[in-house]
Amino acid sequence: MVRAPGQTLLLERDVPVAGPGQLLVRPDVVGLCGTDLEIIDGRLDPAYVRYPLVLGHEWSGIVAAGGQGAFPAGTRVVVEGVVPCGHCVGCRAGRTNLCDTYDELGFTRDGAAAEHVLVPSTLAHRVEATVGATDAALVEPAAVVYRALSRAGVGPGQRALIIGDGSVALLTVHLLGLWSPAETVVLGRRPAQAGLAATAGADRFETAPEAAGSGFDLVVEAAGSVDAVADALAAARRGGTVALLGLPPHGKTAAVVPSDIVNRDLTILGSFSYTSSAWHDTVTLLNLGRLRPGFLVTHRYPLTAWDAAVAALRSTEGTRGKVLLDIQTT
Ligand SMILES: [Zn+2]
Ligand SMILES: [Zn+2]
Repeated sequence: MVRAPGQTLLLERDVPVAGPGQLLVRPDVVGLCGTDLEIIDGRLDPAYVRYPLVLGHEWSGIVAAGGQGAFPAGTRVVVEGVVPCGHCVGCRAGRTNLCDTYDELGFTRDGAAAEHVLVPSTLAHRVEATVGATDAALVEPAAVVYRALSRAGVGPGQRALIIGDGSVALLTVHLLGLWSPAETVVLGRRPAQAGLAATAGADRFETAPEAAGSGFDLVVEAAGSVDAVADALAAARRGGTVALLGLPPHGKTAAVVPSDIVNRDLTILGSFSYTSSAWHDTVTLLNLGRLRPGFLVTHRYPLTAWDAAVAALRSTEGTRGKVLLDIQTT
């Protein structure tokens, strides 16, 4: 639990009781990401977080006793974290990521880094027995990436540049494989990530924009740095698309050259979180065996060693993909 910025602790609580429309789930694997660090440190835009809260928005689990209907006890599930109100303009248009009422597990309500978590049953998705807990736990970041790629109108045989070498960037490389790209290049900062990028499906890993090249059909900014925005715009071909997926520090500005955007007929878009339909498609691809994002996991810790997991997440040393907490082995 993060009680307040800078106050993180592990504590015993009563097992929550499922009310109408709720499922009680026993999380077995929970991923941590940079956003969790921002919550721990109090750096996240206050509009998107409500303390105190239990962390955990990237996870998979097993329905606990009392599950029923489509989700009997013992079913492996993944659960959409964004809880849409269902009746605002965004929700009715299927853009649940734009719901007027921002509410998300692990942000404004308790997340899954616990032995039990309560979720709205309408947001649960069944995971096939052929899919492991670790692959399933990565559905959330994969859905974020899937939504951005769908929004960017990705097509087959494109040349793509992904800026960044963290989990979102590497998942972008992995998902782009679904569209058989002509070339996928990663522009990163940490050479130690090159091996993971290759496993994800990257043809090249570069650390200098000049080496990465230009003329890309699609450029995805997944580093969350304002400097990377200029690199992204410069690397797109005329008529290309630049998708901004990384989240730069709250309030930071970037310099762009508007005439260049017009003259080069660029499409620039931002993508926030995921829609319900992106989540649905991602789970389908996972259940079909077309996505296996578990390759990304490089660090695992029991829940009791949560502080070591957080330290690993902060470290910039060595190769680091996804950092996981194993809950039920604790
Ligand atoms: Zn995350
Ligand atoms: Zn809504």
